[in-house]
Amino acid sequence: VTAITRPAAAEPAADTGDYQGVWVYIEQFQGKVRNVGLELLGEGRKLAGAMGQELAAVVIGEGVEPLARELFASGADKVYLLEGAEYKHYSTDAYTIALTDLITAYKPSVILMGATNDGRDLGPRVACRVGTGLTADCTSLGIDEETGLVAWTRPAFGGNIMATILCPNHRPQMGTVRPNVFKRPVPDTSRSGELVRVASKVKAEDIRTKFIELLTLSETASCNLDEAQFIVSGGRGMGKPENFALIEELANVLGGAVGASRAAVDAGWKPAIHQVGQTGKTVAPKVYIACGISGAIQHLAGMSTSDIIIAINKDADAPIFKFADFGIVGDALDVLPVLIEEIKKL
Ligand code: FAD
Repeated sequence: VTAITRPAAAEPAADTGDYQGVWVYIEQFQGKVRNVGLELLGEGRKLAGAMGQELAAVVIGEGVEPLARELFASGADKVYLLEGAEYKHYSTDAYTIALTDLITAYKPSVILMGATNDGRDLGPRVACRVGTGLTADCTSLGIDEETGLVAWTRPAFGGNIMATILCPNHRPQMGTVRPNVFKRPVPDTSRSGELVRVASKVKAEDIRTKFIELLTLSETASCNLDEAQFIVSGGRGMGKPENFALIEELANVLGGAVGASRAAVDAGWKPAIHQVGQTGKTVAPKVYIACGISGAIQHLAGMSTSDIIIAINKDADAPIFKFADFGIVGDALDVLPVLIEEIKKL
């Protein structure tokens, strides 16, 4: 079901035409671009093409100028660069001021951001400061034929409908987009563009939080579903929470992350951050191993873009086998220990 929200009084505000260009906010971590930024450049290129406008990337950080080349190669015509020690670690205050100032100065028509922890923190706050709306957690984007506005589509009412939302009266049109719903563009290293260095106006006293410590990545790797190359997921078929130790061990041996079906999350076997699917995360690893998962449509919605899907299920007729590239019919509690031992030998 698709619902399109069209406000009754859809008269554009007089000055919306002053806003030009599609922007992608590039999230970086320790000087490395998060994949979602590149995915959004690919999609932003299509929107900018359809609107006849330029595509710009916005990077905020310390020592991040070398990223510009990668962003041009991935489709940006222009890169706005804001650098300073105050941006070394993400902080709500510094980044909000920086992005708000940039929007006020350069007036983009559209801003795409990743629906990551940082994007979900930054996007709504900036939207509020610049007096516009934001469509959160989108799973597809397009152009509304009638109005030429960006059509932001996202699950609504617990995933029971897909709502398409337009932003007719305010600018910029803003939205956060789930990681992994779009493919990264193939880089074209012959592309170049314009680098715009912007001076920072953030003062130390503007930042109300203090950076204390960065937790080591190994402590959080099993939750990093967004960027994992291998994901091992468990469902109700794992039987009880203790059996998830096998899922965790296989993920660990592969250097991957742990996923779960909603049934496993609802049973309290894994926290919700591990849930894959329509109301969980959308993932796109190289290899997705589904253990004791039936293959409900809502689960498939979150993992069907994985390069290779391997299913372990004791029911040979389980729907997941229709979508899997490789299937093992058997009890996951028997198969997983063998798989773990064999992979350890490699
Ligand atoms: P089941 O469907 O119960 O499947 C268990 C499977 O394990 C079976 O195929 C069985 O043969 C197999 N099995 C049993 N024992 C073993 C064993 N020892 N070894 C191997 N295999 C075994 N679900 C999600 O996952 N993610 C979502 O984001 C999500 N969003 C939803 C949103 C909405 C609006 C709705 C209505 C539903 C949503 N669901 C979601 C729920 C979804 O419909 C399914 O109920 C859910 O995915 C089922 O989880 P499961 O495959 O683990 O369990």
